[in-house]
Amino acid sequence: MKVLVAVKRVVDYNVKVRAKGDGSGVDLNNVKMSINPFCEIAVEEAVRLREKGVATEVIAVSLGDKACQEQIRTALALGADRGILVETAEELQPLAVAKLLQAIVAREGVDLVIVGKQSIDGDNNQTGQMLAALAGMSQGSFASELVIENGKARVTREIDGGLQTVELALPAVVTTDLRLNEPRYASLPNIMKAKKKQLDTLTPADLGVDVAPRMRVLKVEPPPERKAGIKVGSVAELVDKLRNEAKVI
Ligand code: AMP
Repeated sequence: MKVLVAVKRVVDYNVKVRAKGDGSGVDLNNVKMSINPFCEIAVEEAVRLREKGVATEVIAVSLGDKACQEQIRTALALGADRGILVETAEELQPLAVAKLLQAIVAREGVDLVIVGKQSIDGDNNQTGQMLAALAGMSQGSFASELVIENGKARVTREIDGGLQTVELALPAVVTTDLRLNEPRYASLPNIMKAKKKQLDTLTPADLGVDVAPRMRVLKVEPPPERKAGIKVGSVAELVDKLRNEAKVI
């Protein structure tokens, strides 16, 4: 069983992002970039399937500029077998990403695609669902458990107030939630080995996909600054402030 995992290059989750002065986007100058955390979980799950002998090959794919090679190499160090970079300078929106992944799925004959439930930069939560729809594959989103058995995928999904278990015919798309697993750290020897693993580069044109954006970002702005808190001297003062200043009682 071939497994494809999508790894997105995003601003590291520890970085406090700043909007550009002109509101046209997020300032990426000298900012640490990493694999999207939900994609790390996707890589870990795929590698565990290979270690259990369920998967025969794990392919890590990233779409974006040349720098995304770094995230593919990290996925290779975590245990993926080979990588594919779809290189483009165009800003990729979820529909374009889903179409590119669909083309790779068709080209590679993939049985299972594991993507993150959402990218922490755009918070889109769209790619996996769009890919499943475009490729006519089953989907199990927000997975907190994945079992492959008898040619089917059993996915436990995190839904409001509980868990839902669904059985999917393969090929399928699974999107990862936080509790699916705890990703491993890449060891130094594996980082060295990853440098020698195969990494192919394609372009959207090679895959016959039009990646022109369908959506225009009008403005990016930081949330309003919060006022500093104060200490009140008594319960009466607190009640007075809640009633007359905050107007919440
Ligand atoms: P989104 O729909 O943007 O929230 O992204 C959900 C998931 O789709 C991510 O966690 C990735 O697994 C995958 N994905 C989205 N954009 C890219 C990209 N440019 N390169 C690789 N994977 C991506």
